Amino acid sequence: MERNLARSIDRADCLVDVSVVARQAGIAGNAERSLLRIELVAAALVRRTGDPDASLYLVADASLLGGRRRFADPAEARRLQDWVNRGLVEQVPDADERVLELAEMTGLPVITNDYYVDHRDSRPWIQGNDWQFLKPVPARGGTVELKPLHMGVRSPHEISRKAEESVLKKQGLLGAGRVPLENVVGRSWRCPARGCALYDTARGNSVLLPRMRAGRPTCELHALTLLDQGSRAAAAQLKLLLEGCCVARFTLDAGSTTRVGRSPGDGGLSLHGLIPDQLLARISRSHIEIEARETGLWVKDLSSYGSRVRRPRCGGSQGSWSPLPSDRSTDFGPGDELQLMPAVVLTRSGRRFPAELSRAWQDPKPEGPQPDPGTATSYFP
Ligand SMILES: [Zn+2]
Repeated sequence: MERNLARSIDRADCLVDVSVVARQAGIAGNAERSLLRIELVAAALVRRTGDPDASLYLVADASLLGGRRRFADPAEARRLQDWVNRGLVEQVPDADERVLELAEMTGLPVITNDYYVDHRDSRPWIQGNDWQFLKPVPARGGTVELKPLHMGVRSPHEISRKAEESVLKKQGLLGAGRVPLENVVGRSWRCPARGCALYDTARGNSVLLPRMRAGRPTCELHALTLLDQGSRAAAAQLKLLLEGCCVARFTLDAGSTTRVGRSPGDGGLSLHGLIPDQLLARISRSHIEIEARETGLWVKDLSSYGSRVRRPRCGGSQGSWSPLPSDRSTDFGPGDELQLMPAVVLTRSGRRFPAELSRAWQDPKPEGPQPDPGTATSYFP
């Protein structure tokens, strides 16, 4: 289980509102609180993504650990405390607020069972959002499945106006010294308190994203305004799927151009050793080229036999395959799939680039046929 818990949001595939999910009766019995529900969610994400290392970033409020007797088993409360101590759970006074803040900063999918109705005035991007939330539902044999949770639209007189507002525009009105939320993730921060390294990106794998207070990034612990330490390269996460199972992960830094293939040369991503030789023979030396710009990822076919791309539709099902152009670059968004040859697919997961976030909240995906819930391959995460 611990292998699926992310210490840093950069590694995460999904956010989990632990305070909601651990209290979701009907899964793993009806106890008031159960950590087993989180384990079942992790197992569901592994199955859904085909990635044994699929990674959850857990956020819980401190009250969850109060009243330990409410857990199905007292050992679970001790285990949760252990996760908190080891930095595997971010514990905050108000988990809802923090989960939504992180979701807004990163665009990561959120596993929850809450519609966050009382947060919609302050976070209009939740309204009508049908791509960012997943809910655990009981499935066969005591397991859990993750299904899209459509947030729907509340208070209709509000929404048409708010949906048209871009998030950036809204935050641009906040005034001097305020940082647009999506840009917070692209900067490095330091807490001015002596010895505080909570936000120190140089320190390795456990970096917190700032807590926003009145539009300013602050330290969760010291409540001081963080100091801007300069820009931090955006990075995109790619997964290589072989027959639907994740066999490798790659990170692409913004500003880089990377060729992927059988033998792509210096700086390229070689698939040699990652997929069987008989499949490798049908991959070109340089098969595709991926350019990571500040606006997102752009991809072009370079292969002899061609590649294909498909994109998620509204509602979470995948669209149909179409040839990947070789004469121009096309965008490669989170949830898109690139098929180098049958059985060999690259997908994007993890956080979105800031420009992609504003696009996702502004432009609803085109309507597609409603998915058959039994067969739909959703694009989460
Ligand atoms: Zn601090």
